[in-house]
Formats: sequence, structure tokens, C-alpha cells
Amino acid sequence: HAKEIGGNRFQFFEQELNIQAKERLEFENDLRKAITGDEFSLFYQPQVSLLDGRIIGAEALSRWHNPRMGNVSPAEFIPAIEEMGLVIPFTDWVIREAGRQQLEWYNHGIKAVRVAVNISSKHFVEQDIPDKIIKMLEAHNLPSSCLEVELTESVMAAHGSKTLDILNQLKEIGLTISVDDFGTGYSSLSYLKTFPVDVVKIDRFFIKDILTGKKDESIVKAMVSMAHSMGMKVVAEGIENREQLEILHRMGCDYGQGFLFSPAITRDEFSGMLEAKKRFLL
Ligand code: C2E
Ligand code: MG
Ligand code: MG
Ligand code: MG
Repeated sequence: HAKEIGGNRFQFFEQELNIQAKERLEFENDLRKAITGDEFSLFYQPQVSLLDGRIIGAEALSRWHNPRMGNVSPAEFIPAIEEMGLVIPFTDWVIREAGRQQLEWYNHGIKAVRVAVNISSKHFVEQDIPDKIIKMLEAHNLPSSCLEVELTESVMAAHGSKTLDILNQLKEIGLTISVDDFGTGYSSLSYLKTFPVDVVKIDRFFIKDILTGKKDESIVKAMVSMAHSMGMKVVAEGIENREQLEILHRMGCDYGQGFLFSPAITRDEFSGMLEAKKRFLL
């Protein structure tokens, strides 16, 4: 009898695995098709100057709407894109789409916003990112100042001198280079020394407890003054309330991004903010 139950259980387990494998396969098929289709869009999260409340730019964040699954979070599809070897066509799309949108804004006389795109560390095996970006900017006749690339510390850790070479080229073109999720990786400080970084984005992890954690407050304060002494600008990620904003303001943090101002919104919503010359109250 025990054996029978074990057998049933095994069958059940096998069925469960089959369902999971089937779902994963469907997910991957949908994702592969989405890369060449139009299920992806870029949303824009405003970045705000803590000096005067003006919008200085936006981070472009990818969104995937699939007819079968609905909205899928980037936390789910970005790792899948990396595992499936689709990073290069995907990032090509992100850069193309950000450029297309910038062109539209430029044609409407909106020229003061910089769009930051996230570049996955897996992309850095490809040497011709600078070339692709130059071609895109030239095709649209856009200045390099309209684009920023966000890299995590893992990019810098993974590919050393190759990354340095690519970043130097991007820097030469005139792109802004920022370090995303700063402080959460290993040996963050050595990257600031080695790589041509313009902007440090302090991870939400430190901002979250800035009011209650004495250490968090000290760490953020030190990050701001260190970045400034090296001529870098600082963005605080994940500002959710006024108290956090006030403390960051006092510390002299340059820019803020977070739900207090706005989540990532559609390009039309963001266009509306730009056209209205929206200024956030500080
Ligand atoms: P990230 O680059 O660090 O982006 C910031 C994430 O924090 C976004 O999540 C944003 O919606 C969220 N966020 C912003 N403000 C707040 C806040 O005040 N509170 C909280 N709780 N969250 C806030 P999202 O859009 O889900 O993206 C997650 C991650 O997925 C991104 O983290 C980035 O690593 C990755 N990702 C998104 N789009 C792309 C893309 O086009 N390419 C690549 N390579 N990665 C992307
Ligand atoms: Mg980012
Ligand atoms: Mg980040
Ligand atoms: Mg993050």
C-alpha cells in the first residue's frame, strides 16, 4: 500500500514537473516572439533635481504586456532574456526605442531631458555597443547628451578591461555613464576609481531606512560627499516620502527618483509632464 501511495505521489510529481516545463516552454516561446513583435514598451520614471524640483531626465524601464499572461515584471523577464541569449536583440530594441522617443520629443521642441537606459552585464560581451549608439544618434541627428547608460557594478566586475574600453568609448562620444544600484555590489569603490563614471545611483536599499537607521544615514551621507569630491553627481533611488526627500536634500544629493515623485509612466503621460513643464514641490 505504501508503495502505491509513493507511486501515485511520484506520478503526481512527474505531472507537476511536466506542467512546469510546459509553462516554461510557453513563457520562453512568448518571450522569443515578443522580442521581434510589439509587446514591449518603454515606460519613463522622472528624475527630479533636488535643487528646484525640475525634471532633468527619466529612466527608461521596460514593460512587457503579453496577451496570454498579462503584464510580466522585468524582474521575471530580464533574467529570462539573459538566460536565453536574447540580451543583444533586446538591448538593441531598448536603444532604438529610446532614440525614436527622443526624436519625437526633439521634434516637439522638448530638448532638455536625458533618457537613461539599463544595459545588462551580459551585453558587454559585445564590442560594438558604442558603434550602434553612434549610428542611432546620427540617424536621428540627436546629440549624445540625450542618452545615459546605467550599468550595475556587476558589469564592471565581470568584464574588467573590456568594459573599461567600451565605457571609455561611450564617454568619448559624450554619453553620461551611471552606476546603478550603487553600494549593493562588491568593492564598489574600486569601480569609481577605475571607470569613467558620471553619476552614482544610490540603491533603494539604503534610502529605505535612511530615517530609522543611523548607519544608513551615515552611509548615504558618505556616498554623496565622496561622489561629489570626485566630480560625480548623485541620484537617490526609491524616494517614497517627504521625510526621505528632506534628509537627502539636506545632504546635498543632486537628483531623486521614486514613487514620491512618480512611478514609471507611459511615454504619453511623461510627454504631458514635459509639455506642462511640471515642477515638483520640494
Ligand atoms: P533598476 O534599474 O534599479 O530600476 C529601478 C526599479 O525600482 C524599477 O523597477 C522601478 O519601478 C523601481 N522603483 C522606482 N522608484 C521606486 C520606489 O520609490 N519604491 C519602490 N519600491 N520601487 C521603485 P522595475 O521597473 O520593476 O525594474 C526592475 C529592474 O529590472 C530594474 O532595476 C532593472 O535592473 C531591470 N530592468 C528594467 N528594464 C530594463 C531594461 O530595459 N534593460 C535591462 N537590462 N534591465 C531592465
Ligand atoms: Mg536602472
Ligand atoms: Mg537601480
Ligand atoms: Mg535595482
